[in-house]
Amino acid sequence: MIVSIKDIVAELIEKIASYDKDQPLLQFELRSGTIVIDNAQSRRCLADFGIKQGSTIETTIVKFNPNSNSFEREPIVLPYTLPTGLKNQKNSCFMNSALQCLAHVVPLTRYFLKSIYRRHHNSENPFDSYGEVTGAFAELLCKLQRVDYVSNAFVPHRIRKAIGNLYPSFVTGDQQNVQEFLTSLLNTIHEELRSNNQSDRKTIIKKLFFGKMKSITTCLRCNHTTTKIERLQFLPLPLSQQQRVFTVEFCSKNGHRSQSNVSVFASGRVEHLVKAFLDKHPRPDLFERIIVQTTLTEESLDLNSPLYMLTDSKVRFIEQKKHLIRTQPIQLDMNPKKITLYECLREFISKEYLDDSWLCEQNTCRRKTKAVKQLQFHTLPPVLIIQLKRFASQNQRQKKVKTFVEYPIDELDLTDLSASQHAIYDLISVSNHMGSISNGHYTAYARVKTPTDRWYEFDDAVVSAISSNSDVVTANAYLLFYMKRNYQSRQNSQHYRESSV
Ligand SMILES: [Zn+2]
Repeated sequence: MIVSIKDIVAELIEKIASYDKDQPLLQFELRSGTIVIDNAQSRRCLADFGIKQGSTIETTIVKFNPNSNSFEREPIVLPYTLPTGLKNQKNSCFMNSALQCLAHVVPLTRYFLKSIYRRHHNSENPFDSYGEVTGAFAELLCKLQRVDYVSNAFVPHRIRKAIGNLYPSFVTGDQQNVQEFLTSLLNTIHEELRSNNQSDRKTIIKKLFFGKMKSITTCLRCNHTTTKIERLQFLPLPLSQQQRVFTVEFCSKNGHRSQSNVSVFASGRVEHLVKAFLDKHPRPDLFERIIVQTTLTEESLDLNSPLYMLTDSKVRFIEQKKHLIRTQPIQLDMNPKKITLYECLREFISKEYLDDSWLCEQNTCRRKTKAVKQLQFHTLPPVLIIQLKRFASQNQRQKKVKTFVEYPIDELDLTDLSASQHAIYDLISVSNHMGSISNGHYTAYARVKTPTDRWYEFDDAVVSAISSNSDVVTANAYLLFYMKRNYQSRQNSQHYRESSV
């Protein structure tokens, strides 16, 4: 039994009556969460009561049981309708994945639908006059709200044609990169909205998706700093295990000192550094007899301390005569296949050394010098799109990085990394890429918050509910859409009537 928000109450009652044909239906009540559906308003559709797509209809029916010769109450939950899928046309899964991710950014969808519903009775799409892409996008959002009984999916012809007119490479039938498509789509809508509204240059795209990055470059010769502010539309995070070189001063138990450079992955811990040192200078029992200190402050370091805590790359290993009470880890993974999103973020904003490639413009320098570049978040957008850089080139060949990145579904805390007071983000959609570069496939995961928090998988036309929320964290994740917490609820207070979905 499929129930749609376009069903009128009379149709719903008919469906419930057919639930058990052998038993006469005597009495029932209808609810969806806290919304009570008035049986008397038989010509109104479920959307009129404020019931959203993906909701559950709960009902209690009273039936006569001839065996016990009594009336019995029986609760039933009608299956919710699934969100609408998008059919694939010539390798367009990258496009479908991007469109589903965007369609589940609630403030964006609300912005477009609000204007369309206002003029619904003229069956007019006000965004058609803004530009072909914006008109097509608004129409797509509108169609995704409707339920198609036959297949619950449609072909997004118009948006494909509109974007293809501007960017022919997206409609050649070849697989394309979802991030490049999204950039083109969002920038085109931004430009079309902006050129139609000169008084308000802050479009919905800019409001939701554009932030600012600050890059601070310090000349290591004269200490002069140069600050640049750049647009942040995607946060491109490198996944490669960035190596960091430490200068290790080794003090043997006989007082002999030697120095060597040791390379270790930057997101590791002090024990990884010790292991890397011993791989270079093999001494079977040394691991149990080393005390690690910072050279600068001579503070002892715990083997479990993360290396990013060390601002200085100079450390001292002091060999002890006696064994320390410490056991060598049996297997220390020196090349982990799993990293966390926080590690990627730290890597992204960590200092970058520019080797004689920075042109210092101070009068005292006026030449290429060594410099340190540091990135900072200046303004974080309400919707942050994180790109896990899975497509890297190596020796002039593209390869896919399959590292598993562990990312939080709720509460990505960027407060420490940003200038704003409280930057807590929740995941709202994910664009996945599976397979190889030449033979890959895109899908999307998206979150529907009301009436219950539920995730869906969009594999082109096939839409399915995801049983466990943790299943949305996979090694296929390529783009992560995070929404700033409280942004949505603040916007929710501005209600509008969806009386004619
Ligand atoms: Zn300088």
